Amino acid sequence: MIHEMIWISSHDTINAPFVLRHIKQGKLVVMDEYQDLVCRKCGKVNEKAALTRGIQPEVVVKSKRPYLLSADDFCLVDERGKDAFSRILPNELEYFPIPSSRFYVSRFYVASARVSLHPVDSDPGYRFLSGRCHECGRRKEFYWSDACPTMEPPSRFTSIIFEDRQGGKETWFVTKDVAEQLKNTSPPLTGIAFLPKEFEDDLRS
Ligand SMILES: [Zn+2]
Repeated sequence: MIHEMIWISSHDTINAPFVLRHIKQGKLVVMDEYQDLVCRKCGKVNEKAALTRGIQPEVVVKSKRPYLLSADDFCLVDERGKDAFSRILPNELEYFPIPSSRFYVSRFYVASARVSLHPVDSDPGYRFLSGRCHECGRRKEFYWSDACPTMEPPSRFTSIIFEDRQGGKETWFVTKDVAEQLKNTSPPLTGIAFLPKEFEDDLRS
């Protein structure tokens, strides 16, 4: 059976900062503070370990939106966004404070799913490219295919980690009632794009 989830995405954001990376000698690289968390083979940083270590003071969020994506695709929420997500999706997300933002109008956090799923190789809904890193075992790159991906019958919140050459990106899906609650937050949580996405029920579970 097909069920529809709502993909929590972001409107384009200008001047979004990087969270774990910066420009060094003209190249975009993972910050020195996390270099020991970088796989020497594929160059990807262990994102969760880096966030847990702490976000660097050089990361500055200038946006006035309560929700945006960083340039390296982390979800950023301000205090109000954090309150709304904590209320509507209790215990699903953890929040890592961005230290510099305490000097600005609102404090910002990186919001990250406590648990994320990794698609299985046999799922026809994904197009897997280039295999896995021999060192860390992470997939190198994958995208949606034209087929419908599978998901266990809907839970209120599901995070799937996509991989590209830079690293992993959490992709969040919620049920329609959760999307409605997020849409009806007052004042509105601007910056969120709500996109329908169909999944096939996972019959193996
Ligand atoms: Zn690797």
